Amino acid sequence: MTSKVILVVEDDPIVRLTTQKQLSALGYNCVTIATGEEAVAADHSEFGLIFMDIGLPGIDGTHATLLIRERELREGRQRIPIVALTAHSDRSRCAGAGMDDFLQKPALLDDLRGMMTKYMS
Ligand SMILES: [Mg+2]
Repeated sequence: MTSKVILVVEDDPIVRLTTQKQLSALGYNCVTIATGEEAVAADHSEFGLIFMDIGLPGIDGTHATLLIRERELREGRQRIPIVALTAHSDRSRCAGAGMDDFLQKPALLDDLRGMMTKYMS
């Protein structure tokens, strides 16, 4: 298991806490933030994966992802896996914004485990 931390971008405090507990149960530490703006501004080098809500105040999860991808290209950074974690079901919009994968909320522990295996192994 990698020691990298997971970034969870989620504006709902209940979902934030639930996701944090689930990731902790899987052996991962996470940092949670509540806005797309913070997600774009964060130093992604410390994170192994981002779980990104779509419905966020200010810029939404797809817009934040577009800006993160632009920044990676501009700064020559490594491409971080971004997984949508959302009640919305527009997979193609998520993929079009540069997201790697998609989980429907509420995410089951097995769903999260599958993503960690896929992107963090
Ligand atoms: Mg939301």
